[in-house]
Order: sequence, then structure tokens, then C-alpha cells
Amino acid sequence: MAKIIDGKEISANVKAQVKAEAEQLKAQGIEIGLAVVIVGNNPASRVYVNNKKKACEAVGFDSYEYALPEETTQAELLELVEKLNADDKVNGILVQLPLPKHIDENAIINAILPSKDVDAFHPENVGHIMIGDFSFLPCTPAGVMEMLKQTGIDVGGKNCVVIGRSNIVGKPMAMLLLHKNATVTICHSHTKNLAEVCSKADVLVAAVGKADFVTPDMIKEGAVVIDVGMNRRENGKLCGDVDYDACFEKAGYITPVPGGVGPMTIAMLMKNTLTAAKLKNNIK
Ligand code: NAP
Repeated sequence: MAKIIDGKEISANVKAQVKAEAEQLKAQGIEIGLAVVIVGNNPASRVYVNNKKKACEAVGFDSYEYALPEETTQAELLELVEKLNADDKVNGILVQLPLPKHIDENAIINAILPSKDVDAFHPENVGHIMIGDFSFLPCTPAGVMEMLKQTGIDVGGKNCVVIGRSNIVGKPMAMLLLHKNATVTICHSHTKNLAEVCSKADVLVAAVGKADFVTPDMIKEGAVVIDVGMNRRENGKLCGDVDYDACFEKAGYITPVPGGVGPMTIAMLMKNTLTAAKLKNNIK
């Protein structure tokens, strides 16, 4: 029977630490601010943005929301990013993805000052992650690493399989595991014998975007199963990529959805924003 890795509890630990450090900075007259930009009316994006604002409040950061209409042009959004880049009150800039189709996401990401890129999506920060010399880590993979660390799971020398190769989850996830000396396999939609590859994993990370994609035949007895997926069932219920109930007996550790990786992502965003403020003020 699996032990549950509780993302709510671990993220609360991270946020408590961030809050304590933010209070110390405040005592030195340093306020921390996160700008959150949302374009259009995507309901999921609205929920994420609200949660990020709530997290800012909880750790004592100022949050500045910019809610722009769907028809905002790329030039207008770039203009806002430039304004936020130059704004001293803003330590971190988060542009909620996805953006409407007429806006080139890469053009926007590339315009964010790397030192305020608290999502760590800018190519300069991605390069730093590749080399292993980074200030910011992308929030979701960093959240997974923090969960493993606080659970006492050392991935060194272990077989780790990541399903998914997106720039925001799969690829950086694989890189962070590699930095911790795991032997890493990345799977995607062209992978042959996926179930067999996954069933060799000591640690399996699913970042696919398909409900119940990971079934018990795909996991090794006692494996650590990390579910990054956030999907909605037809009845509106949130679920991950792992068939949780079916895999529970066989896994050694498992993350639930909700209450797993999701809260970690927001906690790591707070940590990155704190890091941005410390870097700006030359505080180690
Ligand atoms: P994405 O960009 O759509 O990438 C999905 C990946 O899954 C792709 O690499 C794709 O392969 C692979 N894939 C799709 N079908 C497959 C199959 N049948 N077999 C093997 N691989 C397959 O998604 P994403 O942005 O990485 O997000 C993945 C999931 O994580 C989503 O549910 C998303 O909502 C969730 N998410 C959660 C958080 C959080 O905070 N918990 C944060 C970010 C994302 P190809 O590259 O070959 O197409």
C-alpha cells in the first residue's frame, strides 16, 4: 500500500519558510511584489491566478494583477511587460499561460527580464538550468524535487522515468532529476513499449495531460509515483494522469490530485519571487 506524499503539507512548510524570510526582508525595508498578468477569460487560468494572489497574501508579498481582455494585441502585452520590467516594486512577473492564439507566447516569455522571470521559462534561465547553475527553477519540476526531498527520497542512481517532454514540465523535470544523479528516461507520444519502460522505473513522473493514463501494469511494485497531471473529468472533478485508486496498492509512494503537485507549484513560485527580491538586493 502506498504512502501518500502530501503536497498540501509540504507546500505549507515551503510557504512558512518563505513567509519568515519575507518578514526579515520587510524589517529591512524591502517589500516583495509579484505581478500576475492574465489575458482573456480562460476559467482554469482565472483559478490559477486567484490561487497565486492568495498565496502572495499568505506569505506577505504584494501582488499586482493585470487582467487584460481577450482582444489584447501582442504589442500591447509587450508594452505591459516592458513597464513591469522597469517597475522597481515588481520583483517577479508571471504571465499566465496559455495566451490567446494571436499572441506568440515565446515572444512574451523572451521579453520578460530574466531576473524577474519567476516561472524560469526565459531561454537564459533555461540555459542556466541545463548547466546546473541557476537562480530560478521552473515551479512545477522544482515542486516535485522538493516533495521528494522532504519525503527523504534520494533519486541518486535510481531509474527515473518522466512521461512528457514539454518545456514547462517534462524536459526541466528530467534535467533536475539528472542533476541529482538519477538515470533518466524521457517518454513521449512516439515512445515504443511505454508500459514496459515505465514499469522499470523506481520513480515515475507523469506529465501527460490525460486522465487515468498510468495504470498498475505500468508501475513497478513499490515505485514512487508522482502525478503532475491536472485534468477535469466529464463531471467537472479534478484528476491527475495516474489511475490513483488502481495504482495505490502497488505503488510505494504516490501523490494525490488534488493536493499533490499543484500546491507545490504555487509554493515554489513564492520561493522564486523571494529569490528574485534577494538577488535584486544582493542578499544571499
Ligand atoms: P503538454 O505540453 O501537452 O505535454 C504533454 C506531453 O505528454 C507531451 O510531451 C506528449 O508527447 C506526451 N504525451 C501525450 N500523449 C502521450 C501518450 N499517449 N504516450 C506518451 N506520451 C504522451 O502538457 P504539459 O504542459 O507538460 O502538462 C502536462 C500535464 O500536467 C497537464 O495535465 C497539465 O495540466 C499538468 N500541469 C500541472 C501543473 C501543476 O502545477 N500540477 C503544472 C503544469 C502542468 P509529445 O511531445 O510527443 O506530443
